[in-house]
Amino acid sequence: MGYETKYDVVVCGGGTSGFAAAIASARGGAKTLLIEKTGVLGGQMSLSGPPGFAYARLFNMKGERDVAGIVKETYDRLLAQGHALPEWRSDIRARAGYTFSYIDPDWWVMMAFEMCEEEGVELLLDSLVVGVEKEGDTVTGVVVENANGRNTISGQIVIDCTGEGYVSMQAGAETACVDRETVQPHTLAFTVDGVDWDKLLWYIRTNPEQFSFKQLIFPYEDANTREDVLEYYRKCYKVTDLGELMGFYELRDMAFKNGDWHPYSGAGFFLTPKEGGHIQAHFQHSSQVDHALPTDAWDLTRCNIECRKQNKIAWNFFKKYVPGFEHAYITRTCTELRLREGPRIVGEYVLTRDDVEAARQFEDTIGKSSFKAGGYHVAGMDTLSVVAGKDQKHNDLAFPKDGKSYDIPYRCLIPRKIENLLAAGKCVSTDRPAYLRYLHQTMVTGQAAGAAAALSVKKGKTPRKLQEDIRELQQILLDQGAVLFETKI
Ligand SMILES: Cc1cc2nc3c(=O)[nH]c(=O)nc-3n(C[C@H](O)[C@H](O)[C@H](O)COP(=O)(O)OP(=O)(O)OC[C@H]3O[C@@H](n4cnc5c(N)ncnc54)[C@H](O)[C@@H]3O)c2cc1C
Repeated sequence: MGYETKYDVVVCGGGTSGFAAAIASARGGAKTLLIEKTGVLGGQMSLSGPPGFAYARLFNMKGERDVAGIVKETYDRLLAQGHALPEWRSDIRARAGYTFSYIDPDWWVMMAFEMCEEEGVELLLDSLVVGVEKEGDTVTGVVVENANGRNTISGQIVIDCTGEGYVSMQAGAETACVDRETVQPHTLAFTVDGVDWDKLLWYIRTNPEQFSFKQLIFPYEDANTREDVLEYYRKCYKVTDLGELMGFYELRDMAFKNGDWHPYSGAGFFLTPKEGGHIQAHFQHSSQVDHALPTDAWDLTRCNIECRKQNKIAWNFFKKYVPGFEHAYITRTCTELRLREGPRIVGEYVLTRDDVEAARQFEDTIGKSSFKAGGYHVAGMDTLSVVAGKDQKHNDLAFPKDGKSYDIPYRCLIPRKIENLLAAGKCVSTDRPAYLRYLHQTMVTGQAAGAAAALSVKKGKTPRKLQEDIRELQQILLDQGAVLFETKI
């Protein structure tokens, strides 16, 4: 049996960025192939997730929507099907720019497969991209290994959506990554059902100071006071009004003294909605392993082994110490690590911490974000205070000026020197603090890369040359519902 080996656009990696890239490319009229090493779409959304807050931060601190496009389209679709919760923009959340638009990750996967079929995206699953075909500095295709052996697939434009920039590295593109000593810890998540939420809520209402809610207080003076948030927790009767529950300080510290907690992460979890209003607890911070580079399989192996041990300790703690967990049970341990930090391409432009802080606008904007810069985790029990920038060693923290949003330039998607290659998702070109790794950001850059690739094919221009046609690309994205210039109330 013969297989198709020639495509206009080849998207490598079927995570959130790759999904959005493939959909936008197919919508642009390009014959599009999406190659994924596992059998599932969604990447960290599904294989190692869900992310604690997905989707979140689609609005800036001024309450204006700064992310839409395929993110909103998928959210609306899941909401209409009963697989998402209504956008949650309560005052306390809106003031901190930390709004939630909860989705059910399993139904997200189902929807992603349906949308690929509807849009005519071809899929090649269970296939690892192991190499890149080039003529000089121009990428002409990729090499895949799968059950069929080792084969070449040609593409006029290739998009690297592998999360860690694997295809860009294979193409010889310049990438940047911190060293093993500095890299943020990775983790392995698990999901839990059977929690007695009423019992837990009683504990929360009577012990609100036992929780971390720095993200609701930072970063602006007119955001909530600590007392506002404590009062909110005291009056909370609905667990979905809390979103994340991190802290359990007193119980955790007691457990630590008793040898029932490990010193590598804080205690807590996020919420995931399921059908019929059911809620599950998702633990994505219960294990953390340092000094592991995503580009080293031995490091990843150590990380996997260690995380499983830590998760077991953490789970025993919740069962033994936390009210409401007595009859809870694990429904899933993720099959893949959640990788916090890895290589980024060095592109035509490198988005910086200062750009985030200045809420900078760019002529070649392809989308916006209001997510802070420089929130690093360390493998310690006080993970979240580091996120809030208290640790001087990690004080790169920056919030967009006046609660506004910053632009993401098209040039961040174009690797220097290598032609006919675009990058999207976690590995786009930024400095370390401005890392665009959050889920909604990966879909914004994915959508733009897909639309750009299709336009490149149509015009017979390289993605780099397409900078001359930036208005045309921007119009396509606007027509697809993206937010580029004006944030919307
Ligand atoms: C602990 C943790 C918590 C997080 N919490 C949140 C959160 O609460 N909210 C939020 O918005 N974000 C969160 N994030 C970030 C977010 O989940 C990820 O950064 C994002 O999902 C990355 O998307 P991506 O498409 O760039 O990459 P990925 O989701 O990693 O997708 C890459 C895909 O490429 C495939 N692939 C890789 N190499 C190859 C290859 N050679 N050939 C073929 N396929 C390949 C992989 O299998 C995968 O499917 C969190 C991250 C971590 C680590």
